[in-house]
Amino acid sequence: MRNLKKISILFLVMILALSLIACGEKAPETNEEENTTAGNVEVQEETYDVVVIGGGGAGLSAAIELKSLGADVVLLEKMPFLGGNTIISGGELNAPETWIQEKLGIEDSIEQYKEDTLKGGDNIADEALVDVLANKAREAVEWLRDEVKVSFREDYLMQFGGHSVPRAAYPQGGSGDELIGKLAQKAEELEIPIKKETKAEELLTDGEGRVNGVKAVDKDGNEITFHANKGVIIATGGFGANVEMRTKYNAEYDDRYMITVQPGSMGDGIIMAEKLGADLVDMEHIQTYPTCNPATGILSYVADTRFDGAILVNKEGQRFVEELDRRDVISKAILAQTDGMAYLVWDETIKENSQMHNFMDEFEQLVNQEMIIKADTLEEAAAFFDIDITELEKTIGRYNEYAEKGKDEEFNRRGDIIGLTKAPYYIQKVTPAIHHTMGGLKIDTEARVIDTNGNPIPGLYAAGEVTGGIHGANRLGGNAITDIVVFGRVAAQSIMK
Ligand SMILES: Cc1cc2nc3c(=O)[nH]c(=O)nc-3n(C[C@H](O)[C@H](O)[C@H](O)COP(=O)(O)OP(=O)(O)OC[C@H]3O[C@@H](n4cnc5c(N)ncnc54)[C@H](O)[C@@H]3O)c2cc1C
Repeated sequence: MRNLKKISILFLVMILALSLIACGEKAPETNEEENTTAGNVEVQEETYDVVVIGGGGAGLSAAIELKSLGADVVLLEKMPFLGGNTIISGGELNAPETWIQEKLGIEDSIEQYKEDTLKGGDNIADEALVDVLANKAREAVEWLRDEVKVSFREDYLMQFGGHSVPRAAYPQGGSGDELIGKLAQKAEELEIPIKKETKAEELLTDGEGRVNGVKAVDKDGNEITFHANKGVIIATGGFGANVEMRTKYNAEYDDRYMITVQPGSMGDGIIMAEKLGADLVDMEHIQTYPTCNPATGILSYVADTRFDGAILVNKEGQRFVEELDRRDVISKAILAQTDGMAYLVWDETIKENSQMHNFMDEFEQLVNQEMIIKADTLEEAAAFFDIDITELEKTIGRYNEYAEKGKDEEFNRRGDIIGLTKAPYYIQKVTPAIHHTMGGLKIDTEARVIDTNGNPIPGLYAAGEVTGGIHGANRLGGNAITDIVVFGRVAAQSIMK
């Protein structure tokens, strides 16, 4: 049910976002005219200590932390519901030295996590920001568990590509629903005013350049000025859905690519802050997720069997990449194969070891879309996608030998290697889609937005995917949720200093 809910949320998000985007293009002109001619647009003013823009994981974490520190805070969300990309995410977040790692006997350290993150981003990330991420990660998961009451699996951790050990805490159901549901509940308990369908359009400043408010427009076109005595936190997410912005910074990522992100990821916060002289970093680094539904671009959670043993082959029946390599490496490798497609292959043993049971609604949908086949024999499964069965059998024969030896002699797959021997067999067709924008507003370790002269813009803070510098050229799986909780809270604490 969970995954059906997630797909339905994404669908709803897409429809609503497209209509909002459509309105957004025309609204200012029409509203202005209405204001002056018909006079039916109200101009309102409200005053708070802090205005948080964006109701995803970063914005909600910031708002909750602010309220706990005694601030009078309001949160603006342009959509009719909270969640952003966080609600459609898997919700998994990395942290070293957690109680779950201790229970599972996994040795890890802050230093190792930091090293993996820096290396995973091609060593171009801002080391000081990664230091904050690594040092505050455990506290972030514990905060989610203790203060927000997020429920995590105690017997399982994910190991995303590029990480030395399993370290991603797994919310019950493997879904961002659990995070957003609980964050929203906490915000409600704290009586934080949340203004949905209220789109921030402009940052306001006093005569000395200090950010002291936000101009927003509600669904009826009413203009609302939110005054912010202490400052504004931008938490508007990435720009993965904005083709114009993507191609402005990297011509490769044009409209040939589908997206895993919600269509509201338009880079609004970046555009607003840039007008005040904010510096941008790493904008050209845009991430694709390798295993998405070729019909829709939606990230496939069924295909997470890859983390539990499934192998990737091409139409010629050959493996072509290490399945646990970085997302960018796998995505590029897939796009270089016939039709730009790959086929994920697993058997019943891997299925039983995996989290696939959480995503059976998605599985049924993939069956209906002919994107997955479950068959009693490998021949039957391969024939469905016209994969070269002779080569596939050779590939799997070799792979099973590696499983027995415990060493993948071709691609050096990390982690356990599980042979594919037990029917039924599964083959799923997958392709990459735009997933994450690493670049964004330059911030310092206190989440202050930095201008092009290297100075903090007074009163302006940012957290989450809207910022750049934490993930370098490539974000490792599970690091975004850590980032949004850590820096959402850091921004709140800084503003209250
Ligand atoms: C399918 C999918 C699965 C993922 N799984 C994982 C995972 O398991 N682990 C992990 O670490 N990362 C994952 N990620 C990445 C991660 O989910 C995101 O990077 C993260 O959730 C971003 O959080 P955020 O709060 O910065 O932005 P969002 O959650 O996107 O929230 C931004 C919010 O701001 C609102 N907004 C935008 N502009 C305005 C405006 N002008 N005025 C008012 N509101 C505005 C948006 O509507 C949105 O609600 C996944 C991403 C996707 C797409």
